[in-house]
Order: sequence, then C-alpha cells, then structure tokens
Amino acid sequence: MKSETIAAEVVVIGAGSAGCAVAGRLAERGREVLLLEAGPDYGPFGSVAWPAELLSARMLATTHDWGYAAERWTFERARVIGGCSTHNGAIAAVGHRRDYDGWGLPGWSGVDVAPLFELAIERMRVRAYQAAEAGPFHRRCLVAATDLGWPIASDLCDLDAGPAFGLETVNVVEGVRWNAAFAYLDPVRDRMRICDRTVSDRLEFGPGGPRVVAERNGEQLVVEAETVVIAAGVYGTPGILERSGIGDPAILRSAGIDVRHDLPGVGENLHDHPLVEADRTVGPELQAWLDAAAATGFLPEEQTLGKFVSGVSPDGLYDTHVFPVCASDQTSILHGHIAVVVACLTPRSRGSVHVVGSDHRMPPLIDHRYLSDPEGHDLAVLRDGLKVAQQLLGHEQLATVLGDAVTDLGSDRAIRAAVKHYYHPVGSCAMGSDARSVCDADGRVRGVPGVVVADASLIPQIPRANTNLPAVMIGERIARSLTQS
Ligand SMILES: Cc1cc2nc3c(=O)[nH]c(=O)nc-3n(C[C@H](O)[C@H](O)[C@H](O)COP(=O)(O)OP(=O)(O)OC[C@H]3O[C@@H](n4cnc5c(N)ncnc54)[C@H](O)[C@@H]3O)c2cc1C
Repeated sequence: MKSETIAAEVVVIGAGSAGCAVAGRLAERGREVLLLEAGPDYGPFGSVAWPAELLSARMLATTHDWGYAAERWTFERARVIGGCSTHNGAIAAVGHRRDYDGWGLPGWSGVDVAPLFELAIERMRVRAYQAAEAGPFHRRCLVAATDLGWPIASDLCDLDAGPAFGLETVNVVEGVRWNAAFAYLDPVRDRMRICDRTVSDRLEFGPGGPRVVAERNGEQLVVEAETVVIAAGVYGTPGILERSGIGDPAILRSAGIDVRHDLPGVGENLHDHPLVEADRTVGPELQAWLDAAAATGFLPEEQTLGKFVSGVSPDGLYDTHVFPVCASDQTSILHGHIAVVVACLTPRSRGSVHVVGSDHRMPPLIDHRYLSDPEGHDLAVLRDGLKVAQQLLGHEQLATVLGDAVTDLGSDRAIRAAVKHYYHPVGSCAMGSDARSVCDADGRVRGVPGVVVADASLIPQIPRANTNLPAVMIGERIARSLTQS
C-alpha cells in the first residue's frame, strides 16, 4: 500500500459534534490543526454539494450512517462532516446543573459548564419554536398539557429548569439543521486542513510522540502530531484506542491485538436513555390537517416535550422525557401513526462496546444491556412515564383524532420487548479518578502522553438531556484545556 507521512501540531480524529467544536476553537486560537473525518466534507453552509436530506430538519436523515446493529436494534451514527449533528433531530438541551455537579470532576460542575453551554448555544444558533410554528398535532398537545395542569415553560434549554411541558428548543435555522460543521468549521476553514473520507485506524508511538495511521482512497496516511485528539464518537473512539493496544488486556488478546497499555475501562460504561413509544394510529381528520400543513411549509416531527418526575427519582428532579412525535412526510417510518415517547433520563444500566479484531473495517460489538440494572430502576421510570403519556393520549384534544394503539406496553414484559434507545449513547471512555476511568478531567488518556479524548464517550453519567449540546460543550471544554495548558 502506498504511504504518505505528514505532520501537524494537533490532529483531531472525527469531525462530529465535539470534534468540530474542538478543532474550530483550536484553529481560532492559532493552533495548526488537521482534522481527519471518515465521511465526506460537503463544504461550508451554502455550498451546493450538501445533500438536501442532511440540511432539512424536518425528519432524521439516514443516508450517511455507519450501519451499526446488534440483536433487534440499529445504532445510528453519522459518517459525514458534522457527525451526528448533521443527521440528528436538532433538539437542543443541556440537562440540569446537578447532572454536572454529580460528575465530581474539576472544571465540570454546573457553574463551570454554564458559560461553555452559552458558547455552544450561540454557535449552534439555538432557539425555541414559537407558538405560530407549531403544527396541528403539537398545538393540540400544548392545549392538552395546559388543561392537565402541567407547568408550561417557554425555555426548556436551561440548567436550572424544573419539570414542565413546552415547545422545544432547537438548532434549526429556517428549516435547516444547523450542524456543528457550519457552527465551528465555517469561520476557520481557511485556517485549518480537513482530510475527509479518511478513516483513522490506530495510533503508533515513537520517540517523537503519537502518530495516527489512517487510510484514504486505499492509501496509507500517517500523521505525526504533538497532540492527538480522538473525537470519533462513543462507538468509534474506544475502537481506535483498542486497535492501538490500549484497553482491557483480555479483550485485546481475544481480538488478536498486542497489549500496549492496560486500561480496563476502555469500551465499558456504555449507556443511553432507554425509551418506549406509546403509539396510536392517526385518524383521517388529523391526517388531512397534517397533509395540508406539510404542503404549505416546514412541519417537523418533534416540536413539544415534557420533563417529569417519576416516583423513583432519587433527588426529586425530573428524570423522564415525555414527547409526542408525529410524522408529516409519507416517507417517514412514523407515517400513519403518532407516538408519545417516554424516555428514562437517569439510566443505571451499563453495557459495552469493543472491537472484535484488528481490522478497522470490522464493526464493533455493541451490547447496551438496556433495562439490565438489578434494582429495576430504569424499568420503573418507564412504567411511571407511560402513565403520563396515557394521560396526554386520553385527553379529548388527542383522543378524538387518534385511533388504536399499535404496540402493547401493558406489562413489564411488553415494555422490555419494546424498549428502544434515544440515540444518546455516552460513556465508553469515561473521565474520572478511579481505576475504571479511561481519561482524566481534561480528557487525557491515562498513561498515554499526547493523546486526548473529546466527545460523548468522556461522559461518566449521562445528563438529563439530549446529548448534542453536551457533546459540543465537551469540545469547547477540551479546546479550552488544551490552549490553557
Ligand atoms: C438519529 C439521531 C438523532 C439524534 N437526535 C438528537 C437530538 O435531536 N438532539 C440531541 O441533542 N442529540 C441528538 N442525537 C445525539 C447527538 O447527535 C450525539 O450525542 C452527538 O452528536 C455525539 O457527538 P460526538 O462528537 O460524540 O460524536 P459524533 O457526532 O458521532 O462524531 C463522531 C465523528 O467521528 C467520525 N469517525 C468515527 N470513527 C472514525 C474514524 N475511525 N476515523 C475518522 N473519523 C471517524 C464519524 O464519522 C463522525 O463524524 C441524535 C443522534 C442520532 C444518531
């Protein structure tokens, strides 16, 4: 295989939500940055190369996916500039400040992350949907929630907010999903190098420091750098470390990889918000309204959301998302039915993601072990949340325009059989101070000088929030620590 060697001060692997933030901020602060992304780079906002489905925030885009799956689940992850921020639901949330206090890590308390979130919110152009923008179904949900006596909030994206129902906060600009590449790379594209369609395989270590070994168009690309920032996402980052011989020795040996550094937490602590969908078929009247609204303008599937406190919340804070979803587009998987989704925001179940061989083309083994916590906490939150969902669905505003349930959720067994994920995996290279932690509080991989992680895999315990803004905030935080040290 032909091989080329280049040098950079900082190489960032993965141009996702966090990778764009860290690379963009480092370039802004005068660092010489090379950004390696496995998927295509379609250029700045306004470039005609951008595929329409990656721009439209109306529904999730499915064309640029890594294609991970296990058992009956698919684990969507974008393979494109901007990472998952380029194909996600564009719902913007920060969680509660106590989520971050609970990490117990220097520089990550609620007080510390608040200004970083402000930067992320400004760059990602976050705003709340206005009442006039709400589609016919979500308007009815708002009326029903108000009638049911639930507090109505005008800003759900607030570290101090309590339980409430309201219009969602989003990073959507005139119908466009405002991704992290537009937010962080566009202002500095002339000050950094981006190598797209370049898959980073592993790190090697010589006397001069770490080197990234990557593959591009069937040729090898070796990058020598002072600092390697791995931002390949929660399923990608552990794989790069493991293929480099960094991880649990038993797992590395079973994958045929020589052990370089014993770090047993790599790929462990994987978790997500588990969810179930209380669904109903759409009645003809509602379908006609939806078709009419979709024909005349932008009608996204998600527009309203509730935060609720379940009966097992240990701290009295909200621990459940209850949010209605309603498709307007006939190509959506939801077409013909609606769902009120119930998600557990404080999951205790933990799984893992590991490589099964040394070849980067082999997909990892992803085992989330949803609802496996021995106390049954995660299941109990879903059970409670379903009662709230049924209240909403039973209100005349919805009951009169909906048909029957499609999915049975009437027993614990049925809930287990129907459980899905919220697309929010985190934690597979977690920060911390104990023996199981992979990184320190500045994202530095323990015992591996010059290598830093900057993405959602750093999260030790998932916040009560959709994870895009937290991932962007992590990029801001790691860029700051790299430029202050
Ligand atoms: C379908 C979907 C809907 C979602 N909806 C929402 C939502 O509405 N709101 C919200 O807040 N969150 C949402 N999320 C979650 C959120 O988008 C993610 O948590 C967040 O984007 C993760 O950011 P990250 O930087 O950790 O990883 P990613 O954004 O996944 O970035 C990783 C990047 O690294 C690249 N990469 C991976 N491996 C390699 C390699 N070996 N070499 C080179 N490059 C590599 C990938 O191609 C990717 O670009 C959603 C996620 C999905 C998938």
